Amino acid sequence: MKEQLEALRTQALSDFSLATDAQKLEALRQQYLGRKGTLTQILKGLGSLPHEERRTVGALANQMKETLSDAIEERKLELLEQASLLPHPMDLTIPGKGVAKGGLHPTTQMCYDLNDAFRSLNFDIYSEDEISSEHYAFDVLNFPPGHPARETMDTYWISGTENLSGKERLCLRPHLTGASVRYLQQHGAPARFVYPGPVFRNENTDAQHERAFYQYEALIVDRDFSFSSGLLLVETILECVFGRDIPVRMRTGFFPFVEPGFEIDMRCQICDGKGCPACHGTGWVEVMPGGSPHPNVLRAGGLDPDIWSGFFINIGLDRLVMMRYGVNDVRLFHSTDLRFLEQFK
Ligand SMILES: [Zn+2]
Repeated sequence: MKEQLEALRTQALSDFSLATDAQKLEALRQQYLGRKGTLTQILKGLGSLPHEERRTVGALANQMKETLSDAIEERKLELLEQASLLPHPMDLTIPGKGVAKGGLHPTTQMCYDLNDAFRSLNFDIYSEDEISSEHYAFDVLNFPPGHPARETMDTYWISGTENLSGKERLCLRPHLTGASVRYLQQHGAPARFVYPGPVFRNENTDAQHERAFYQYEALIVDRDFSFSSGLLLVETILECVFGRDIPVRMRTGFFPFVEPGFEIDMRCQICDGKGCPACHGTGWVEVMPGGSPHPNVLRAGGLDPDIWSGFFINIGLDRLVMMRYGVNDVRLFHSTDLRFLEQFK
């Protein structure tokens, strides 16, 4: 009987060491130590042995039961360790696994950089709801009723309000400019603030146009603010953001909410003025319309246009980001293609 137990022990330990997963190990536990297991059967048969032998073999069998249970637990730990892929023994010289790092979207980064630049010039940062109304998107901005620009903006009107008008007719804001009036209504003058954010237009997309894009507006309202100071402000901001002098030029432009109005172009940074598809071969890229707020806009903001004047610019944030990184298709920035976005981290 002793020999039989010894053989059983050798066989069991060998089986345990060959078990490759917890499931197989559990099956072996049943096979040897379960209710119908080999060792259990032997223990049950003890009764038929002579008294003396019963004691010795009984003690041996109980001791073996313990040994096998311990061996199973030990093997289980070994398997766990292997499964967790821990090098055994631990090798501290193996390089660790890197943690994937996120980064700011280039448009967000540009927005933050502009915020820093303007903040250093004592501008307030303002934000507004993305849902606006006909009143703030057009009425207060000197768009006469039926003015074609109301339609050319390709505004997304909120369904259910189409037949209403003014503050009741809601839309996704087609531009940020309406917020300037609200700011003036809330804060009065003098004022200098910027307001960044997405705007929405229902138009066809191409390399230069997107349906949702970012604008970044800046407005100064003061008793006496000259255009030359405004141009200096633009040059200062671009220098802050690009880290070098950027040639700019000013052309006249028309928008109902400014008088006079202008367009500011910057030297194309992709071709450095030589001409490329991004600048339509002209060497210049339109980056911000602007002007002096129209007297009717100042009145809508609660100010007397005989006392107050100002300087307003609307920076095309996406256009500026394209210039910063030399990317010639605006849609890439909104593509959520991580292969493209990861290069800006
Ligand atoms: Zn160019």
